[in-house]
Formats: sequence, C-alpha cells, structure tokens
Amino acid sequence: MADDVNTLPFFYGNITREEAEKYLLAGTGSGLYLLRQSRNYLGGYALSVSNSGQCFHYTIERHPNETYAIAGGKKHRSPVDVIDYHSQEMDGLVCLLKTPCNRPRHMQPKVGPFEDLKEKLIREYVQQTWNLQGTALEQAIISQRPQLEKRIATTAHQQMPWFHGTITREDSELRLLNGSRTNGKFLIRQRDGKGSFALGLLHKGQVMHYRIDRDKTGKLSIPDGKKFDTLWQLVEHYSYKADGLLRVLTETCVRPEGETDMSSSDHPGLGHTLQNAANGVFHLLKKIPTLDRHKGSRYGSADRVNTYESREATNRASSNEAMPMETEVYESPYADPDELKSSTVLREQLVLEDGELGSGNFGTVMRGIYKMRKSKKPVAVKILKNSDNDPSMREEMLREANVMQQLDNPYIVRMIGICEAENLMLVMELAELGPLNKFLQKNKQTSMKNVTELVHQVSMGMKYLEEHNFVHRDLAARNVLLVTQHYAKISDFGLSKAVAEDQTYYRAEAHGKWPVKWYAPECMNYFKFSSKSDVWSFGVLMWEAFSFGQKPYKGMKGNEVLLMIESGQRMESPVNCPPEIYELMKTCWIYRVEERPAFTVIEPRLREYYYDIAQ
Ligand code: AMP
Repeated sequence: MADDVNTLPFFYGNITREEAEKYLLAGTGSGLYLLRQSRNYLGGYALSVSNSGQCFHYTIERHPNETYAIAGGKKHRSPVDVIDYHSQEMDGLVCLLKTPCNRPRHMQPKVGPFEDLKEKLIREYVQQTWNLQGTALEQAIISQRPQLEKRIATTAHQQMPWFHGTITREDSELRLLNGSRTNGKFLIRQRDGKGSFALGLLHKGQVMHYRIDRDKTGKLSIPDGKKFDTLWQLVEHYSYKADGLLRVLTETCVRPEGETDMSSSDHPGLGHTLQNAANGVFHLLKKIPTLDRHKGSRYGSADRVNTYESREATNRASSNEAMPMETEVYESPYADPDELKSSTVLREQLVLEDGELGSGNFGTVMRGIYKMRKSKKPVAVKILKNSDNDPSMREEMLREANVMQQLDNPYIVRMIGICEAENLMLVMELAELGPLNKFLQKNKQTSMKNVTELVHQVSMGMKYLEEHNFVHRDLAARNVLLVTQHYAKISDFGLSKAVAEDQTYYRAEAHGKWPVKWYAPECMNYFKFSSKSDVWSFGVLMWEAFSFGQKPYKGMKGNEVLLMIESGQRMESPVNCPPEIYELMKTCWIYRVEERPAFTVIEPRLREYYYDIAQ
C-alpha cells in the first residue's frame, strides 16, 4: 500500500525538484532514481531520474480507484509497482530505472509543511466545529479522517494571511501598495463563487494580476501554469520558484486584522492557523479572534460557532453527505450537562407519531418526539405488544434496555430511556434510514468507499463492545441501522450479554432461536459466545454489505451451513468485492477461536483499507 513508501530508502518525502537534482547529480551513471512526494497533487508522487548528467521528473498521479500512473501511462497498484515496471520497460521514460538513489544515512523522508500541520488542524477543526473532546473527538477523527483531510486541504487557504477573500481588483492594488513595496509582495483574492481566484504581485512598484482558474477536474492554475490541488500548494510552489511569473513570491501582504469573513466559507472551525508564506513555511502564528473556541459551546444557543454549527448541521444532516458529527445522534443527548440523565422517560415527555419504523419480536417500533429540557429530539420507540400473556417478553425487553443503558458510543444506537405507560416502551436514538441490508438492496449504486466507510464504523462500535466486555450475539446487517448514508449504528441488543470480568466468553444454557448462519462454530458446538464469535458474525455482515444486502448461504438450511463450515468451506467472495476485503472476511471465519483476530485487529485493518481507497 502507498503508506509503505515512507520505509523505502529512496523515498525523500516533500523535497523540491532542485533538491532531488542535487542528490541525483551527486551520484554517477544513468538510470539513478528517487521518489518524492508530489508538491502539487494531493496523494501523488514524483519520480526523478538522471540520464547523461541531466535530470527528468515524472508525476505519478494517484487515481480515485487507488491506482498510480505516470500521466497517461499504464496504471499500477502502488508507486513501487510503477518503479518496478519502469525498471523493465522504458515505456515513454528517458531511460530504464536502474539504481535507486538512497537517502543519506540518518536522513528521514522530509515531512511536508502541510503534513506536519494536518494533525493539528484536523484536531482543532473537529474540536471547534462540534465542540468534541476525549473519545468522541478521537472517534470522529478516526472514522472521518479522509473527509476531514480533504476539508482541511481545500479550505485551509481561508485562514492564510495572504488570502483576502472577495475584495475588488482595485482594493487589492491599494492593499499591495500600502506600506512596504518589496518586490514579490503578494496576496490572493477570490474572483467569484465558482472557485476562481487572482494573484496580485508587486513588481517594481506595479501590481501584476494573474488569474487562477479551476479546471473541470478542480485543479487550480495560472494560465498555462502548473496545476495544483490547493491554493496553499500553489503559493508554496511560486514562493520558491517564479516558474512563469515575473518573480517569486516573497512577502505576504497581510489581510487586515479582524477580516475573517471569507464569505464563501462554510467551514468555520479552521480557526487558528496562519501561514507565513514569505518563506513557504507554515507557522502557527496567532488565533483569529472572532472564532473563540470557549464561546463555542455545542449546546449554547446564541454564539457564533453554534450558529454556524447548527446551520451546517441542518444543511448536511438533511443531505446524504453529512458526517456523523453533524447529526444529532453523534453524542448522547445527555452529554449536555444541562440535560438530566435518567433512565426513565415520562409519558408526557413523549409524543408518538404516526408511522411505523419497523416491527420485531416485541412489537412495533414507532417514530416519536422526546421533549427534553432544552430541545426536542426525534426518537425511535420500541413498543412492547400487550405482554399480559407472556411476562417473559417484558423481562427480555428490560434486559435489552439494561444492556443498552450501559453503552455510550457514536456507532451504537443509544437508549434514551424506558417509558412505562399504556405499554412498556424503549426510547432510542432514531436511525431513520433503517437496516443496512435493506438500504443496500435498494441502493445498489452505493460506492465501495461508502460501503467500506459504514462497515468500518460498525467495526469501531464492535471494538468498543469488545473493550467493555459485552457480546452482541446478533450482529448482522439487519441489525445495523443507518442514520445517514454515511453513518451506521449497531442496534438490537436483545441477545447481548455482559461477560464476567474473569471470563472471556458467555456460555448459553441451551440452544435458542439463534441466527445460525451468523454464528461461529464454537457457538453451535459448545454454546460459547465471545467477542471472537462476534468477529465471525462481523465477517458475515461484511459479506452481506459487500454483496449489497444479499442473504448469506442462500438457499441453504442451518444444518447444511454447519456442515459446510466444519468441512472447511467458506462463502465465496461477493461479486466485485475488493480482494483485501474478502481476505479480511476469511480471517473473521478462522475456525479456531484463538487464531481468529479480535476487533482490536480487525478495526485498524479496515481503517487502513478505507483510508487508502478514500483518499
Ligand atoms: P427490532 O425489534 O430491534 O429488530 O427492530 C425492528 C425494526 O424497527 C428494525 O428492523 C428497524 O427497521 C426499526 N428500528 C428499530 N430500532 C430503530 C431505531 N433506533 N431507529 C429507526 N428504526 C428502528
């Protein structure tokens, strides 16, 4: 995978073309090569090679389908494969790649200025925008890293001191001519809402204007110039090289203090980081005063951050693109210290609405509104059908409530409370889009990236259960509910059990009404249930998800499935399922419990794959 490049001795990281040439020309012979990070394409690389005392540079582009290719060339699975290929075939290169030019001893690949800052920016962004702390913050970053990175990368310029927003050409001239008139003093302004910008550059007392246009693929460039994914990469580039401009960018014409309204911005949280563009290096300089984090309570009502946040949340939560943190159910409603946590919901706090969300063993699940102190929350209400005849149903539902009450994780449907009224009612967070299997059956065009994102979220919820010694015992795609197309929660804790501290498994006393096709062999043979048997079920859930909601072991009876498993056979890969994913499914179906990986292993493996395809 592409992440492995960091360990390659001939990978230099974020060095410039000139630095690459210095290293290559210090060596001898033709075909000496090195790999470096692309400074204009996010996630791309550059290959530099020397031939007869000259250096040649090729961009290795990263394509959305996780392939790498030198522009217009053959596609490969990794940058290393590109290099292997060109050590055998010239195929357009100036010569064959013969000898790697390894980094000097003790030199690590150079970390790009943005890479360095990315972590900090993401953290600040999530903290400020959604006012998250601790585990909620970590989980948000883990599950949404690719989206957050993109958001940071494409909006970071709004916080740079050289970015002046939508000012006029005349204003930009006044600003550049005000104060020092250093050659190379510059600023960038926004020209229109379509993502076109202009660079103003001071040259011998005169202001030159360069258009920066966005092409169909979203790349930015001055006319006939090099293309960039982001404005900050463009500024980086022209700060060390004129490359067609009258001169290099030197001094930042700093945006006037307090002018932070970048009008087109819908991402208020990118608050603290400014760039000293004069030397092309990012510095953490100062905070933008109007976005004061301490005022930005997630639960406040009148401050700026919250106004932004709620608008953003409304916009996105209603769209399919919403990130989990932008929905109402990322944190528990009781995370707000002003709301009293109680496991009982009073009947007068609950309004049941028309329309059934679904039905199960207990009865129906209805939509409702839960009136809290400060807000009204849409909820799902599981209503026990008349239990006069069967008190065990009531006990079962209370047992489910008891388990749910102990869980608090963004990827698990939380219980809000129990309401004893005309019927026993279990009030839960609402996951409006319903069960994953049904959703995928109806939405077969859902991308692999999207399916992987959802399945990864399930693995995060399961990792939490594993860490807290709970076994789910009914993990299946039908029991994963969707809040949005990009947000899954595990539900249905009817069979779940807390495992005693000193035990690794729960032993059922007798066989029950079990979802046999989702059960590991030790569950069927020894009635033993552990997080590892949940891992087995998770493998089946992955199979269901990647086959867009098909039934596993179709047409087979429970005992036939058992025989198939015992004979060492496993389900075939779903059609078009990525091989990495099928491999992971098969590790979930390792027969021996001790050899089967835990969710602490499964989750990071899925995460890695997800980041890889989502970049
Ligand atoms: P269950 O009895 O838990 O199997 O739930 C039966 C059905 O009700 C599910 O398949 C969903 O369609 C629906 N349902 C259950 N819980 C929720 C929820 N929290 N949000 C939305 N729909 C739900």
